[in-house]
Amino acid sequence: MPQILGPRQILDTLVGFPTVSRDSNLALIDWVETYLADWGVPSFRVWNADRTKASLYANIGPMVEGGVVLSGHSDVVPVDGQPWTSDPWVVTERDGRLYGRGTCDMKGFVALALAAVPLALQAGIKRPLQLALSHDEELGCTGAPAMIAEMARTLPRASAVVVGEPSMMKMVNGHKGGTGFHVHVQGFEVHSSIMHTGVNAIMEGAKLIDWCNQVNLANRAKPPSPIAAMFTPPWTTAHVGVISGGTAENITAKDCRFGLGFRAVPGDDINAYMSAARAKAAEIEAGMKAIHPDAAITMSVTFEVPPLRPEPDGPAEALVRRITGDNATQVVSYGTEAGQFQAERYSAVVCGPGDIAQAHQPDEYLEIAQFDAGWLFMRRLIAELAT
Ligand SMILES: [Zn+2]
Repeated sequence: MPQILGPRQILDTLVGFPTVSRDSNLALIDWVETYLADWGVPSFRVWNADRTKASLYANIGPMVEGGVVLSGHSDVVPVDGQPWTSDPWVVTERDGRLYGRGTCDMKGFVALALAAVPLALQAGIKRPLQLALSHDEELGCTGAPAMIAEMARTLPRASAVVVGEPSMMKMVNGHKGGTGFHVHVQGFEVHSSIMHTGVNAIMEGAKLIDWCNQVNLANRAKPPSPIAAMFTPPWTTAHVGVISGGTAENITAKDCRFGLGFRAVPGDDINAYMSAARAKAAEIEAGMKAIHPDAAITMSVTFEVPPLRPEPDGPAEALVRRITGDNATQVVSYGTEAGQFQAERYSAVVCGPGDIAQAHQPDEYLEIAQFDAGWLFMRRLIAELAT
């Protein structure tokens, strides 16, 4: 029998792997794979295109339907330029808190889920625990969909998914969806004194950006649906957060690049917003091409996270309410992989230890009380699966 590792020992190990999204996560995946194999649990990798990263999933217990998926991401955000008091890659305990990159978002939850494995086996669970460990969550949840699709195809269907993003162990049953475009406006450069013969990529791009302002004004003015009313703000927003372009004051800009994104309330069709943005870009482009045929606007999708729609009395919500005793209803404004599980017809909620306010911060920490609450959740979940 392998030695049983406690949640804290596993957390120390996981934080020690600097799995920043831009880098490989394979050292962590190797470790988890070996850990599960030591307990006789086979696990399966779902690779990224160039095989530098992988997601990992596993079924613990009998291969039957009605189990529970515990879902977490392996990647963390960078620490570059952040003032850390202690080494971000070493869990450091101070004042009842566990400091370290990813303790809160979300290696704390992953450590709890892994520590639950031997207990689940010893308890002889009758319905399985399924683990889903993704990559590239911090790059717009781009790693999980391939893993979720494969789990749906190869594993007995679980009746509930718990995505352990930090929620202070509260039951979160809704979040907004998000999508992002990279927009490249290609103009035609001439001296600005004869700008009517050129195409200014910045000024044309500004038309699309101002269209975002119009979308926001129109959505704000509409009365919100009952689901939308749960969110702050209770409408779908369009946003441009970064822009670059132009060569000099006296040249019509040849290039302008910006990111354009939407955050959609559940019930709003995010695809309709994406189509509307493309249609507006096509209209602007037609005017540009009338001046010069090489002028163009290209838009590529950088990420797409579907919203999490509250499922009244859904199995995942009922499970987490039973275990936590939390009867309130909460929604959050950040996107998670829960919406992606729901898109594959899983019942999904978010519930995990820690406060999202500590995520991505210098001196990120997880309250030990939250870690303990998460461990209690795992033990109660195992008891439920064993009956
Ligand atoms: Zn996260």
